[in-house]
Amino acid sequence: KALRSEVGQPRMVKNAHFTWVRPDDEEDEPELLAVSPNAMRDLGIKFGEEQTEKFQDIVSGKQFYKEHYPWSMCYGGWQFGSWAGQLGDGRAISLFEATNPETGIRHELQLKGAGMTPYSRFADGRAVLRSSIREFLVSEHLRALHIPSTGALSLTLTPSIRVIRERIEPGAIVARYAQSWIRIGNFDIFRARGDRAGIRQLTDYVLNEVYGGEDKLPAPQEDSKFPENRYVRLYRAIVRRNAETVAHWQTVGFMNGVLNTDNTSIIGLSLDFGPFAFMDQFDPNYTPNHDDYTRRYSFGNQPSVIWWNLVRLGEDLAELLGAADVDNETFMTSGVQEDEEKPLIERAEYFIKAAGEEYKLVFLTKYLELMSNKLGFRTVRDTDMDKIYSPLLDLMEKYELDFTLTFRKLCSIPTGTTFEEKVEAADVFVRADEENPGGHSREEAKTEIAKWLEAWEGRLVSELPDIEGEKKLDDKEREQRMKQVNPHFIPRGWLLNEIIEKVEKRGDREILGKVMAMSLRPFEDSWGTGDEELEKRFSSEPPKVERAIQCSCSS
Ligand code: AMP
Ligand code: MG
Ligand code: MG
Repeated sequence: KALRSEVGQPRMVKNAHFTWVRPDDEEDEPELLAVSPNAMRDLGIKFGEEQTEKFQDIVSGKQFYKEHYPWSMCYGGWQFGSWAGQLGDGRAISLFEATNPETGIRHELQLKGAGMTPYSRFADGRAVLRSSIREFLVSEHLRALHIPSTGALSLTLTPSIRVIRERIEPGAIVARYAQSWIRIGNFDIFRARGDRAGIRQLTDYVLNEVYGGEDKLPAPQEDSKFPENRYVRLYRAIVRRNAETVAHWQTVGFMNGVLNTDNTSIIGLSLDFGPFAFMDQFDPNYTPNHDDYTRRYSFGNQPSVIWWNLVRLGEDLAELLGAADVDNETFMTSGVQEDEEKPLIERAEYFIKAAGEEYKLVFLTKYLELMSNKLGFRTVRDTDMDKIYSPLLDLMEKYELDFTLTFRKLCSIPTGTTFEEKVEAADVFVRADEENPGGHSREEAKTEIAKWLEAWEGRLVSELPDIEGEKKLDDKEREQRMKQVNPHFIPRGWLLNEIIEKVEKRGDREILGKVMAMSLRPFEDSWGTGDEELEKRFSSEPPKVERAIQCSCSS
């Protein structure tokens, strides 16, 4: 307690990457609401362990290992395009790092909402139950979709801690984990302070400890105009990972909603789940963030905005990227010599630009690969973008088709049918309760979809000669393959609201388990929760009035 009052107070912390800080243990009756079995497995925790007092004490901040004193990280960020100064981590306290002996993977376990830190600024270091339920479910769901993401081990209700937002709400603590919690914002803050040594320390740390050393970085580009030092290669690795993750988001309709640099991971994880959403009826301009007036964080803008953030990182690293000899540079202590300045800037600019080309290429390659899998193709063709993918998205937008369910329903569409049969089959894609989808007639929508189905089938047939031993289309086999990559269930905003209401206001404790089963196994046809009504409702189209809801950020 004494230590807390000394170090836990909000203040400006200079020249630091982090501060030692202990979680608050004010709550007497923490209630463990949920534990993710997938997280237990990732972390190498034995099943059953979650029942113990020790486990529950640790994930609620009541106990920690004294030999691993907890800490909070210092970072800044560019928010909505403007520099916002030191702003985090005001409510995340890391407990320890642990390596799973089976996988050899090391994770950092962190509590969110366990009280104030030196970085809390004007806020309380708490998180409300509402946003904690959202983060808990979506981070584990994204991992189940095989999308790089931070994970969540547990969700603990802290009933006696009342948190003031628009109203007074119960607080909660999520114990979450990641291989690294470092964000672009961790670099930004050092640049803003002109702290060269800090940038170099952090960069070396990320290179050696997070990426595992120079050997693990991409090989230098053959056609590079200048020799690539290890920091250029690290920057490229960070760029590549983020490009792949955005490609994943764009194929499942996931939107982060606040892609500021402090929410952009140094290892390309989906990170920070505030006003996130999954796409309902397809609309590339949709943003789930109520305060995002310019649609900076809209679905269609995600690839660009992540690149914008990566350019900020490039600027943070500019001196290292442009250095002619990184092991023999005096500028880390004394600044860049005047005659070195111009060539250094030229090289740094070149590398950032080249990384931009690489970003586009990696994004596109991954996107094509994932879309190809989603549509049941076994070969990847560049021409599919214009001929198949874009026309499908155009149809979804025009006739307000549900993004997730369009792909899921396509899995079961038979091939080898006549055009008339395709028109009939197309009926499933259009909402049953919609007479004029997107303001057009139902018949028109069905005919247009049928035309696309014909092109899709043509594409499936045309690759047969490229696949060994395949003479004709096998619908059953394709359906099974497609169902492995096209989720049936996604945690949509409206159903999360319903769960939150039930847990918070009605003391429902079963619903979380049911929805967790669905979130963790999103590709199943059914989940065996014993509640078929709920399974069906939550995996169907959202009620019309509940589509594309937005979220305001208070959390
Ligand atoms: P976000 O917009 O969620 O990325 O939040 C930016 C930063 O604000 C986070 O990294 C936190 O450090 C800080 N923050 C948000 N909410 C709180 C809170 N209730 N108490 C302390 N810090 C907070
Ligand atoms: Mg954040
Ligand atoms: Mg947040």
